[in-house]
Amino acid sequence: MATQDKGIALVTGASSGIGAIYADRLAKRGYDLILVARSKARLATLSRRLRNETRRSVETVEADLTSSIDLRRIEDILRSDSRITTLVNNAGVGSAVPLLDADVDKMEDMIHLNVTALARLTYAAIPGFAARGGGILINVSSIAAIAPELLNGVYGGSKAFVLALGQSLVHEFADKGLRIQTVLPGATATEFWDIAGKPVHQLPGQIVMSADDMVDAALAGLDIGEAVTIPSLPSQAEWDRFDEARRTMSSKLSSCIPAPRYNVRQSGCVSA
Ligand code: NAP
Repeated sequence: MATQDKGIALVTGASSGIGAIYADRLAKRGYDLILVARSKARLATLSRRLRNETRRSVETVEADLTSSIDLRRIEDILRSDSRITTLVNNAGVGSAVPLLDADVDKMEDMIHLNVTALARLTYAAIPGFAARGGGILINVSSIAAIAPELLNGVYGGSKAFVLALGQSLVHEFADKGLRIQTVLPGATATEFWDIAGKPVHQLPGQIVMSADDMVDAALAGLDIGEAVTIPSLPSQAEWDRFDEARRTMSSKLSSCIPAPRYNVRQSGCVSA
């Protein structure tokens, strides 16, 4: 495994679960780290271990990414530190609670973290990456992005946002040296499920991946150039066919002629 200096990777939600494994793997790949989360104690424990094991520099920043003040602090770090070569937008919360039982304020908090924070941090990182002609953005979405019936709809919607943003960024920045990967984990054994209201032991064991395996597969997907990585999906060709169907349909999604099945009297095309 290569351990030469790779610059700094900033990982959000690094205090536990998937983010902590990303921190471990990226340090072992030769990155220095900036680790972000709310839990100061957990970040300190992880950073101590990683410094000892890898001799990399590991900085921790305590921040609640739903607070606009804290979020702006992380944005400033991303804008001002040109040694940052990789951003892992991993912090997120989920919900398994159906709409009628869900607290709308908690749903809004979820949107702030899963959507607003991720989008703002992306906007903070990408201009520097583009100016320097390189950088890696890893956005952690979920299979709920394409299977929104599985969990709470706001969670699925928030993760669909992450997927659509990533697809758009790949399109926009493909020729500027940036690598943009969207990761769609299936059920992964972390504290996510306790917070989401459905402990992971209630899920069938055969659908739950360890966080170690999930991150190792996702990084292997990055290494082979995947723009969208679904660690559980046996064949990438299945995703490619799904995406191709979307692209094929997209040429028909905007027209001056309403579809015949609506029997609308046509008013003709509007010229600019
Ligand atoms: P986790 O163990 O609960 O980790 C979530 C991380 O986000 C923690 O480090 C937490 O740290 C941080 N976080 C939560 N709220 C935050 C806030 N307001 N500000 C800053 N950091 C915050 O769950 P996980 O499974 O590793 O989740 C990581 C990502 O994977 C999420 O985006 C999740 O949607 C996605 N995902 C998970 C699964 C799964 O089955 N586990 C499946 C698909 C996608 P603090 O509490 O210290 O702030």
